Amino acid sequence: MKILLVGSGAREHALARSLAQAGADLVVAPGNPGTAAIAENRPVAATDPEAVTALAREVGAALVVVGPEAPLVAGVADAVRAAGIPVFGPDADAAHLEGSKAFAKEIMAAAQVPTAKAHVCATRDEVEAAIDDFGPPYVIKDDGLAAGKGVVVTEDREEALAHASSCLAKVDGRVVVEEFLDGPEVSLFCLSDGAAVLPLAPAQDFKRIGEGDTGLNTGGMGAYSPLEWAPQDLVRDVVARVAQPTIDELARRGTPFVGLLYCGLALTSRGLRVIEFNARFGDPETQVVLARLRTPLDEVLLAAATGTLAGVELEWDDGAATTVVIAAPGYPASATTGGEIAGIEDAEAVDGAWVLHAGTALDAEGRLVSAGGRVLSVVGTGPDLAAARATAYAAAARISLDGAQLRTDIAAAAERGEVTVPPQR
Ligand code: AMP
Repeated sequence: MKILLVGSGAREHALARSLAQAGADLVVAPGNPGTAAIAENRPVAATDPEAVTALAREVGAALVVVGPEAPLVAGVADAVRAAGIPVFGPDADAAHLEGSKAFAKEIMAAAQVPTAKAHVCATRDEVEAAIDDFGPPYVIKDDGLAAGKGVVVTEDREEALAHASSCLAKVDGRVVVEEFLDGPEVSLFCLSDGAAVLPLAPAQDFKRIGEGDTGLNTGGMGAYSPLEWAPQDLVRDVVARVAQPTIDELARRGTPFVGLLYCGLALTSRGLRVIEFNARFGDPETQVVLARLRTPLDEVLLAAATGTLAGVELEWDDGAATTVVIAAPGYPASATTGGEIAGIEDAEAVDGAWVLHAGTALDAEGRLVSAGGRVLSVVGTGPDLAAARATAYAAAARISLDGAQLRTDIAAAAERGEVTVPPQR
């Protein structure tokens, strides 16, 4: 099957890898040096609806898969769908679920989906009243898209207010102030064809830049799957109480959601709560979820794109996967790029490991250099989490990039059996 994949990160490299393994004939727009090795990269802007549609027509794509959020919000899926080509990815109206946290809250309220209590604020006075209502720790979120970096969780009232002010200073800036959610986080990806919901395997990601979950939020520094510690009925519960009601509510409003509903959840002392929705595969969780999926990915995404998802069943590898992100110096505040990268082949010589490209590029001399904040995503697989972790870190140790940042504690607490759901109040 001819597939056009839109995007250029490690998530897209992971998608490309799985689609290529399924036998798909792949074009990636624009792709990265990693996807170039397994597909044809085409230098088309991911966020240009007309250009992506024209490319899909030119290559005769039977399916277009949109990776990142920005093209969805820009209407790329709408344009491709209007051209009569099946597309995996929601229209801009449905992608608003990710594009606006305030809209997501409205949908959750209408669909009675459990989530943190929140106030949407347009002025500093409203923010002050809201944070004093909830008390510390303060959770302050930019209403708009911020690549996972718009959220500040802090005990420091001044820091909370400073972040709120910087969000409010943007054009039409709004801030969502939330109650703090305790308990471990889970990411559950749910595929939908607009009506049916098909959950993938749950994963956990690590958002903060620093060891022990300290420092600034990032796009994600690592992930693992499966979650041995999670309650048995978690997936069924999330589908029944979160994903299906949300998909139903969007359909009821005339904006059916076709694509991937990413449920970011907290398992709190007061039960399951949604932290956020995304309208696409999460990065880095995709790297570990797809590492364990045995069912050919092209068939599953096509079923979602063509309204035939009901009844599809997935097969999973029994083993585990861990991914560790190698980030550029200075990330997430301001990443230094242009550093030479070496050792990828050595890393992939580690049994059960592979390396996915994110912010990489070839320089004028043809050397592989860093070109973004998150540079590489190193995946390790094995029969259990301990083996998968050891593999990912052994492979990552073979890669060199001056000043690179890498968290050494990805999946460590889970391996030690220290992740638990708090007692229910
Ligand atoms: P978001 O972009 O909404 O996923 O938020 C990014 C990260 O901030 C989440 O993965 C959590 O670690 C943290 N976070 C967001 N909302 C809350 C909350 N209400 N309580 C505690 N932590 C939160």
